[in-house]
Amino acid sequence: MNILILGSGGREHALAWAVKQNPKCDRLICAPGNAGMSAIAECASISIDDGGIVVEFAQENSVDFVIVGPEAPLAAGVADRLREAGIKVFGPSAEAAKLEASKSFTKEICDAAGAPTAAYGHFTDPGSAKAYIREQGAPIVVKADGLAAGKGVIVAMDEQTALDAIDDMFGGAFGGAGAEVVIEEFMEGEEASYFILCDGKTALAVGTAQDHKRVGEGDTGLNTGGMGAYSPAPVLTDEIAAKAMDEIVIPTVAEMALRGTPYQGVLYAGLMIKDGKPRLVEYNVRFGDPECQVLMMRLGAQALDLLLACAEGRLDEAQVNWAHDHAITVVYAADGYPGSYEKGTVINGLGDLPEDSKNMVFHAGTTANDGKITATGGRVLNVTARGDSLQEARDRAYAMIDQIDWPEGFYRSDIGWRAL
Ligand code: ATP
Repeated sequence: MNILILGSGGREHALAWAVKQNPKCDRLICAPGNAGMSAIAECASISIDDGGIVVEFAQENSVDFVIVGPEAPLAAGVADRLREAGIKVFGPSAEAAKLEASKSFTKEICDAAGAPTAAYGHFTDPGSAKAYIREQGAPIVVKADGLAAGKGVIVAMDEQTALDAIDDMFGGAFGGAGAEVVIEEFMEGEEASYFILCDGKTALAVGTAQDHKRVGEGDTGLNTGGMGAYSPAPVLTDEIAAKAMDEIVIPTVAEMALRGTPYQGVLYAGLMIKDGKPRLVEYNVRFGDPECQVLMMRLGAQALDLLLACAEGRLDEAQVNWAHDHAITVVYAADGYPGSYEKGTVINGLGDLPEDSKNMVFHAGTTANDGKITATGGRVLNVTARGDSLQEARDRAYAMIDQIDWPEGFYRSDIGWRAL
């Protein structure tokens, strides 16, 4: 079958790597892709947020199955346009993608589904938002309702910070995303991510992970898109995962179906765990990046069968063949990230690294120029490894990093510290 993967990050390279190993995959196209993907697939430079363009491209190339990596095309209705055109697609409708695109929508679904989450208020004017903050006191969490690339959440440890966040949001700091705000109770605990495939009716867990959002060692410094991840997440024990499935995920899937907007795709539940109880922090409607890299490393070729079963409504027949192993990914980023960074620096040594089921470098912001790999993004490489233990996987990943020659890059040397 001919498969099209939309996206250009490490997440999509990992999806492409897994899909490509499955004998069902005849032709693989990535749009727009990156240097890593161009080594295993055809890359096409098309505008992936435009449903019309994606449908036309898929039809011209006899694509049988489209896998949507990032959230923006989903929120823009690209999966809807593909389904209308009769093309099989992995990813939710725009209506179902509101589980990520609107925080107030998610809270409303949690209320209706009885899913445990933080108490909250939803406001469309600064006056009542501030009154709520004064009434609740700090710590408190202020969130822009819409998509804000992970920057629209202010965890305020004092009241003034929360009040200032209201001024910023209603003042337009996040554009339209901040025209409405959700204010939440501050939840304590340990965070973990739970990934579940849903076909509208059935939910099938495909793994747990923990990421590292801060740029610096020991979880310090600015927030980033993620500096590394590992799977499984020890804090999400089988017992807690089962609770999250029964109390949060299944009621959400049922509520979405009841509303006539069944959820189809991967549901990424960000959970806060305390005293053995999971509560929902957020949903994302796509795989995490870099969490996808460790999930794909562990799932391998069966990932395609699972994503297809999801798209075809056959998850009730599907099952995951678990390898009881561990995977870790370390992000190699350009100096200066998440602030400004230089583009076009050359990365050497990648050609000498092993690429197999235990060791992979997934590319994110890279371009191939005259046989050289250059860095063109902030997060550039995802050095990923598997092992029988997390320690073994970690040693393998850092051994690969030692062989990469990129003086203008940096990485955290403590990925996995919480679990080790
Ligand atoms: P991202 O896409 O970067 O995960 P987001 O913009 O979708 O972020 P959330 O995941 O809702 O926003 O919040 C970002 C982070 O803020 C969470 O990972 C968590 O650490 C913290 N956070 C959010 N809500 C709460 C809460 N109610 N209590 C404590 N911490 C919270």
